[in-house]
Amino acid sequence: MIDVIIAGAGPNGLMLACELALAGARPLVLERLTEPSGEQRANGLVGQVVRMLDRRGLYERLTAPGATPEPAPGFVFGAFPLDLKDLPDNPLYTLMVPQRRVEQMLAERAAELGVEVRRGHEVTGLTQGEDSVTVELRGRESMEAAFLVGADGGHSTVRRLTGIGFPGVTADDSVSRTGHVSVPSEMVGADGGLVVPDFGVIPPFRHLRTERGLITWAPFPAGAPLISTTEWDQPAEGEASLDELRVSACRVLGADLPLHPPTGAGPHMMRRLFGGNTRIASQYRAGRVFLLGDAAHVHSAIGGPGLNLGLQDAVNLGWKLAAELRGRAPEGLLDTYELERSPVARRVAMHTQAQSQLMRPGADVTALRELFGELLAQPATRQHVANLLSGADITYDMGSATGPLVGRWAPDLPGLRELTRTGRPLLLDPTGTLDAGVWASHVDTVTVPDLDTALLLRPDCYVAWQGTTNDGLHEALGVWFRAA
Ligand SMILES: Cc1cc2nc3c(=O)[nH]c(=O)nc-3n(C[C@H](O)[C@H](O)[C@H](O)COP(=O)(O)OP(=O)(O)OC[C@H]3O[C@@H](n4cnc5c(N)ncnc54)[C@H](O)[C@@H]3O)c2cc1C
Repeated sequence: MIDVIIAGAGPNGLMLACELALAGARPLVLERLTEPSGEQRANGLVGQVVRMLDRRGLYERLTAPGATPEPAPGFVFGAFPLDLKDLPDNPLYTLMVPQRRVEQMLAERAAELGVEVRRGHEVTGLTQGEDSVTVELRGRESMEAAFLVGADGGHSTVRRLTGIGFPGVTADDSVSRTGHVSVPSEMVGADGGLVVPDFGVIPPFRHLRTERGLITWAPFPAGAPLISTTEWDQPAEGEASLDELRVSACRVLGADLPLHPPTGAGPHMMRRLFGGNTRIASQYRAGRVFLLGDAAHVHSAIGGPGLNLGLQDAVNLGWKLAAELRGRAPEGLLDTYELERSPVARRVAMHTQAQSQLMRPGADVTALRELFGELLAQPATRQHVANLLSGADITYDMGSATGPLVGRWAPDLPGLRELTRTGRPLLLDPTGTLDAGVWASHVDTVTVPDLDTALLLRPDCYVAWQGTTNDGLHEALGVWFRAA
């Protein structure tokens, strides 16, 4: 029998496939589409996921051999520039890379790990038994697996088939228009900003709010630049067009912005989106079926938090599901997936909704922004927001283990990025005296002389225990791993 069927070969399904295979499970990915869609979604990765990919050796596959992530000197929050240069601990890492490149890289990695992706396989039904799930496919024989994971996007069929609710809100009073364009070269300033006569400068890569709406100018180093506008209470119909985008930009700016069709190789985009959903699945699990990524949560794409959330859902679920399949999961381990990840999704829903409100036009929002701007001038507030956006503020419940690092994502330590590539639990021992006892075969014990505390890391790099003697170590191991 197949260990895990993953419905959906989007980024999150592929990441889960890699994590499962790394942990010794045999997943099969079923994808409805016969070819990758080519749809343009994420332009980049934002937050801790950039470092998590590095800890699996995947960052350099998206950049250059030997490259390591660097924190971003600045970012945006609710159309405020967020200066991060003076933060003592800047956790916000970014990587500009199109989503299709991330998917391609993960598909290659999954293939290396022996995972099969079957395209043209659409999940249409499921029946749960005591030890397995039978998955119905459109026009094909059904299949059986020990577990099914719905990584099939915001309109998830798997979620619907399980009857899991998707409560939340739909905002339908905004319209966003986005398109690849070209502009007269003399309008682009030395710093990449777009200089608009009778308006001023639209800085690159950040939302600019006016009293009439939002505009974003994104001059990517390769390919055509993107212009995006968001307006409220401005109905639109028919095909999205460059003319419409230009008229919208003029309304937002109160000045004319000459936009021309993009030049150079495509694919080029012209898109109009109405409103948006913020919804979180009422459960992440129904028996032998789990939800992952957009199937479990949808929210505004503002600030690009989607893949930080979804890819780390996959890193959280992968080792737990593999442990269950190998008889190495203690009671309740699988339930910690929802317990840990659902609150993280709620934080993302919270800050994307807050940002969306902060960007609306109107005098009351302007007043709110004045106050918010004063708060953001304080480094402590910027640190708080950076921690929130990156996910560096996540602390999981690790039972009775205590210590400042317990429950937190392990800090960067010399050599750690090499040690974590295998996805194995790690006991980092500065003394060389700790004893994992009956868990010795579950965990790689490594002597790291420069540490001032020993650390037990789960495969997702969260600290499950810290200490200087064996005290509490076996108890912590027992929380996460069933003794051999
Ligand atoms: C305009 C836009 C911009 C965005 N920008 C960013 C950004 O800058 N940064 C960021 O991190 N995130 C961004 N996001 C969010 C990000 O794109 C999503 O979070 C991400 O695609 C979710 O991945 P997924 O694997 O969960 O789902 P999806 O990418 O939706 O993949 C689901 C897959 O399941 C397949 N499928 C569906 N139904 C079935 C079925 N019944 N059987 C089999 N297969 C099925 C689909 O064909 C698809 O391939 C953006 C989103 C949008 C819309």
